[in-house]
Amino acid sequence: MSRLSFMEDAAAQRYVSWSGGEDSTASIILCHEKGIHLDGVVMSEVMFDHRRNISGEHPEHIEWVYKTAKPIIEEQFGYKVYILRDESDYIQEFFYTPKNPRIPERANKHAGFLLGGMCVANRNLKMRPLRKFFAEVGECEQIVGICADEAARLQKLSKKVNRRALLAELGIEKHETAQICRNYNLRSPIYKTGKRQGCWFCPNTTIKGFAELKKRHPELWEELRILSLTENLVSQSFRYELPFSEVDRRIDELNSLPEQISIFDFWED
Ligand code: SF4
Repeated sequence: MSRLSFMEDAAAQRYVSWSGGEDSTASIILCHEKGIHLDGVVMSEVMFDHRRNISGEHPEHIEWVYKTAKPIIEEQFGYKVYILRDESDYIQEFFYTPKNPRIPERANKHAGFLLGGMCVANRNLKMRPLRKFFAEVGECEQIVGICADEAARLQKLSKKVNRRALLAELGIEKHETAQICRNYNLRSPIYKTGKRQGCWFCPNTTIKGFAELKKRHPELWEELRILSLTENLVSQSFRYELPFSEVDRRIDELNSLPEQISIFDFWED
């Protein structure tokens, strides 16, 4: 399908893929300001534990999504927000034990911690519900939050069918999206701490980021500590080559320092 003009094809279904971050939120705001029809705004929420309703998103961020952003988008802008959750969660993926693993040494072992760079949570918990949702919708256009100055991402996007970057089309650069969000009280509180949205257990998190997590949410860190005591894990490394105990030792060391360093440098890109 050729690219649609926003105004021409009223019959085409159109969605914004939303993470709650500044760029995708600014895309929704611009759709609203320009009167662009949307059939919905779609977000995938990774869950840590369905049974106890513990989200995998940072607590401040997901609370803002449900209590502030979703009501504004739905009630003020008139766009339906779909927050998708996969049936599985982090706990289920952690304890996944394949019956006939391809590598015999993995027999009777749990999958364990996520592998940085090959994240099962991304494939199963984040992308799978999105794929299912869009398979059910059928052919539609998806607006993604990529800015005019993100050349590499735009290059990748150009190979995808039916996806477009409204921000880039309007010439909006990355440094401009925060203010667009602020104008509508739609900037996630996670930016106040310098964090980026994503899962709080993400192996890509820096040691400083985990130190901050343990300080602000010791109950979540305790969840990971308990999991780290599990035996028979295929993947024992919590953060790339580091076991949980070593990450824990390093963050305690960091948290015991006076706060002259920027504790909020959260992620490594
Ligand atoms: S934020 Fe990290 S843990 Fe979560 S899906 Fe992405 S890569 Fe995986």
